[in-house]
Amino acid sequence: MALIVQKYGGSSVADAEKIKSVARRIAGTKEQGNEVVVVVSAMGDTTDELIRLARQITATPPERELDMLLSTGEMVSSTLMAMALSELGYKAVSLTGAQAGIETDTSYSRARILKVEPKRIVKELEKGYIVIVAGFQGITEDMDITTLGRGGSDTTAVALAAALKAQMCHIYTDVEGVFTADPRLVPDARKLDEIGYEEMLELATLGAKVLHPRAVELGQIYNMPILVASSFSDSPGTIIRGGTAMEVRNRVRGIAHDTNVAKVTVIGVPDRPGIAAAIFEPLAKANISVDTIVQNASINNITDLTFTVARSDLDRAMSLVEPVAKSIGARECASDATLAKVSVVGTGMQNAPGYAAAMFRALYEQGINIQLITTSEIRITCIIAADRVRDALKALHKAFELEQP
Ligand code: ADP
Ligand code: ASP
Ligand code: MG
Repeated sequence: MALIVQKYGGSSVADAEKIKSVARRIAGTKEQGNEVVVVVSAMGDTTDELIRLARQITATPPERELDMLLSTGEMVSSTLMAMALSELGYKAVSLTGAQAGIETDTSYSRARILKVEPKRIVKELEKGYIVIVAGFQGITEDMDITTLGRGGSDTTAVALAAALKAQMCHIYTDVEGVFTADPRLVPDARKLDEIGYEEMLELATLGAKVLHPRAVELGQIYNMPILVASSFSDSPGTIIRGGTAMEVRNRVRGIAHDTNVAKVTVIGVPDRPGIAAAIFEPLAKANISVDTIVQNASINNITDLTFTVARSDLDRAMSLVEPVAKSIGARECASDATLAKVSVVGTGMQNAPGYAAAMFRALYEQGINIQLITTSEIRITCIIAADRVRDALKALHKAFELEQP
């Protein structure tokens, strides 16, 4: 008997009818002779609505309470799913992340899983139950509830699959798999049959929402194959696993984008040791992740320092950087919250010249200005105006011939 972990995303369980329809799919997997553990996300936009609700009470919700609040979204969907399965005549039980044995660190809203002790799940499986686990949450050593970051139910699923030594982890969502670019923005995007962990991790980290980056990371560490497929159809989906065949020719595998980008520039900074530390230490202390950092060559010992943060962190970042800028004698601070990041990704780009030039040309031909550029061995990222993202994606998709298999 195989053990399969399946995860259903928010749009797949958005209302009672969808929950009943997913329950029938789960029953089908059980009928094929498998043991089944299911992870569910909160229904539809529940998480966003809960965040809005908290903000109506206070502009700065205490992080512990916010995580506790958000965890209820997944509890609602997991209980309803267990009821839907009982209604179909199956034994099913819902568990919170804590009951499922998911222990995390104490970083609220972005907690990392430290270990999984799935004793209770195993006990329920032995009794013949289908186990429905509330995704996106865990519990600290001190019994406080944490959440794993937006999109984190994927990570719950892969962590459970690894801990239970499942055969595979199925991630069911509202698209038919992993595409060469977001199919909602690029009509020609092509579904990939398979993709390696390394490329998928890069795409996910750079904004391809279809999988949570931590889920891919765990998949890679535990060598757990992940299938991404549609909750609404039976088409085969995309397999993410190690050792996928390298493309015969060098090429870009996919394009990711992220519109949650803001830029901060500290202008007229004296160029002397200790300045970067003075600026970035307070940001690190406030748990603000800084992404791209660029320092201009200095002229007369004066330079500009530019970096990007998530748009949602911009106000906090500015309130920390402005006083530091003043104290170190910088001229002024400027910010721009209307930016986005587009990245081309592919292991085929390693040691092959010409990709960056081709990317810049494709953007130039659309009249898209590149504000910042960063690269790694297998990706090139450009920061551009957010309102040009769709044009950029389409142009890059065409330039790198991604519509062709
Ligand atoms: P779920 O609620 O099921 O977790 P998400 O909304 O988190 O679903 O992720 C699925 C969405 O990811 C798709 O609707 C699609 O718009 C977006 N997406 C972004 N990049 C890609 C890509 N490369 N391939 C597939 N989907 C992508
Ligand atoms: N409900 C959470 C979110 O909206 C987690 C998830 O869907 O994976 O981010
Ligand atoms: Mg998701």
